[in-house]
Amino acid sequence: MQTSENLHDDFLFIDDSDEEEILEGKGSEAWQVLIVDDDPEIHSVTQLALSDLVVLGQRLEYLHAYSGQDACQLLENNPDIVLVLLDVVMETDDAGLNVVKHIRETLDRQDIRIVLRTGQPGYAPEESVIKEYDINDYKTKTELTRRKLVTTVYAAIRSYQQISTVTESRQGLEKIVSGSATLLELHSIAEYSQGTLKQLANLIDQDVKCLFCARGQGIIEDADDLSFYIIAQQGFASLVPNQKLDTLKDEQISKQVKKCFTQKAHKYFNDSLYLYITKGGYRAVIYLTLKEPLSDIQKQLLEVFLTGASIGYENVHLFQKLNNAAYKDWLTNLPNRLEFVRMLDTFYKDGCENDVAALIDLNHFSDINDGLGQDIGNQLLIAVAQRLQSLHGNCKFARVGADVFGIIGSEDYLTPDILMDLFEQPFIAGEQKLPINACFAFCRKEHANNSGVIVLNQINIALNLAKKNREEHFAYFNPEMADETQWRLNMIRQLRNDFAENRLELWYQPQLALSSGKVIGAEALLRWRTIDGNYISPAVFIPLAEYSGLIIEIGDWIVHQACSQIKVLEEKSFENITISVNVSIPQFRRGNFVDTVLSAIQKHQVLPSKLELEITENILMDDPQVVIDALIKLKNEGISIALDDFGTGFSSMSYLQKLPLDRLKVDRTFITDIAQEGQSVIAETIINLSKRMNLKVIAEGIEKVEQQERLRELGCDEVQGFYYAKPMPQNEFLHFLKENS
Ligand code: C2E
Ligand code: MG
Ligand code: MG
Repeated sequence: MQTSENLHDDFLFIDDSDEEEILEGKGSEAWQVLIVDDDPEIHSVTQLALSDLVVLGQRLEYLHAYSGQDACQLLENNPDIVLVLLDVVMETDDAGLNVVKHIRETLDRQDIRIVLRTGQPGYAPEESVIKEYDINDYKTKTELTRRKLVTTVYAAIRSYQQISTVTESRQGLEKIVSGSATLLELHSIAEYSQGTLKQLANLIDQDVKCLFCARGQGIIEDADDLSFYIIAQQGFASLVPNQKLDTLKDEQISKQVKKCFTQKAHKYFNDSLYLYITKGGYRAVIYLTLKEPLSDIQKQLLEVFLTGASIGYENVHLFQKLNNAAYKDWLTNLPNRLEFVRMLDTFYKDGCENDVAALIDLNHFSDINDGLGQDIGNQLLIAVAQRLQSLHGNCKFARVGADVFGIIGSEDYLTPDILMDLFEQPFIAGEQKLPINACFAFCRKEHANNSGVIVLNQINIALNLAKKNREEHFAYFNPEMADETQWRLNMIRQLRNDFAENRLELWYQPQLALSSGKVIGAEALLRWRTIDGNYISPAVFIPLAEYSGLIIEIGDWIVHQACSQIKVLEEKSFENITISVNVSIPQFRRGNFVDTVLSAIQKHQVLPSKLELEITENILMDDPQVVIDALIKLKNEGISIALDDFGTGFSSMSYLQKLPLDRLKVDRTFITDIAQEGQSVIAETIINLSKRMNLKVIAEGIEKVEQQERLRELGCDEVQGFYYAKPMPQNEFLHFLKENS
């Protein structure tokens, strides 16, 4: 132990320090300093030496412990202690070092500064201890003059403050980093703004009220102008988001928010902040009330946070744009098909009982697009979208396909009649006034099933029926329709399978010259016998084969079959027999129909004139010029062309004239009652027409001799019907020919 005189010499005489700075200032808050020493005199001397000391604007306040154990206790109870002046040797030689361990290890306090003091130089702790436990200073008590003590304390407290500043910054940054991660997960502007306010309040660590303000356009649906809106808020109990800022009725806030926008800078007040967020042209202002002013560190952290928040704000806008691209139709700005499926999901799950979902399919839109150009086509679609949106009630709209629109709404406002009225007047597209028809399909809520995708499918089923229906251009979905669709799909699957397994056959129905009664040819007719031995009528399965596109492959096969049959007939010396095959629309739609027919003729080495193609008038409804061009090519190669079922279709006479025909076939419906008085007018007209057009004419469906006689009177050239022979398999047909020639 040092003698007290000695101590007094050094400690008690206040030697005038030149560290004026240290002694300046008066603060209301105080640094808590713990003096630990088993010698009570050291306590009073220290306190005296440090009296009046002000460090960084704050006084010192002392706590006293006289043993290591006391010190540990005091430290636990006083978390605000910043500095410990610690005697090394007290109740034991290492009592002081135990306190050090307690601070650093047990309490895990790395910020508290420690100055070790000892009476005897021999008790100095190892250098490793000083480093490991972050001890600020080690002094023998003799070294500690007042001036040295003041300097040591000052340095230690300043070091404490730096540590706590760094810690505060680090914690703030950690909040910012973890907050940003949370914000990154938010993809809607509303959620993001709300999240930003929450993180901001967390960072400032005060009970704050805040508003997130931005111009409404592009964020809030139907935001009419460039007014400021409240996108999110915290602490304004009665305020609903997405209102105009003016509804707040606070002149000051409105004025400052606008100022912040125009001056493009933050505004700090003691009791409030206006923070300006900007990135990539996306701008917002956050208004925030403060309970107490922000510290410098908080301001700096705030800047860091706002930089991140601005980037996030731009991102969330870009995300919204992507979202719009994925779920909105670029042309009409209506929801697209994907979004309509989501809307139908809601319709199915939460729709009102008398809600109905509808599809509207414009007729012949592609003609307008091709004929008048895409520009007019686009303008027409926009005009239709606008007219649809004039519907009353709370209807929701979408553009589901190129020329298909979707609507969901109450059945009070959404009926076939109401929709048809919308199409009464022509639409204006550019300079054009275009009269447009449409087909409509509906699904009532009670029939909606399972999910949006399925509901869309259901309405589509009804739409397909509506399109085929010649009288009414609308249909309501009902569950039987779905059964029908299922049946159709099964049939198509079975047909594909049976075709692959060679279970289709081509039968032949003889055609005769009426004058001589000689067989002049045969119509090849497809027969499908399923594995269980049943025949399915072509009237049933041909439409399915057409619908599925299967008719293209089957049609190729038929042409080859027919050609090989022609070859067989030649070989059997039935020289003048023509074989007619029926051709469907999809076969023409595929580009290489002409080539496949010609290559079949080539392959089987048959005379082209022995092959006849039967087309129906309806074939012309789709794309007349493509069909006409193909037929002219075939005709130029010598192949015959017949017009089947004449009189039942809707083709215009002008197209008929352009067709390179050889024969007209009078449909069975005009033959059935032909023998009755006054019932032969149409057949007569067709026969006369064909004579005028220099075509041969054949009547089909003759079942009775009277029909044959009447046709003879009318001057019909050729006949086909059950009266002469039913369609028959290939070998039977050969047999029939032998018998009848
Ligand atoms: P279609 O081309 O008008 O063929 C004539 C239909 O009338 C055949 O029916 C034939 O069996 C039937 N028929 C002929 N004479 C009489 C008669 O005196 N009385 C009655 N009641 N019917 C008679 P089928 O074979 O059932 O064919 C129906 C339709 O299916 C055909 O009408 C044709 O449009 C289509 N079809 C048949 N085979 C093929 C084919 O190979 N390809 C394509 N694309 N369509 C085919
Ligand atoms: Mg036919
Ligand atoms: Mg026919």
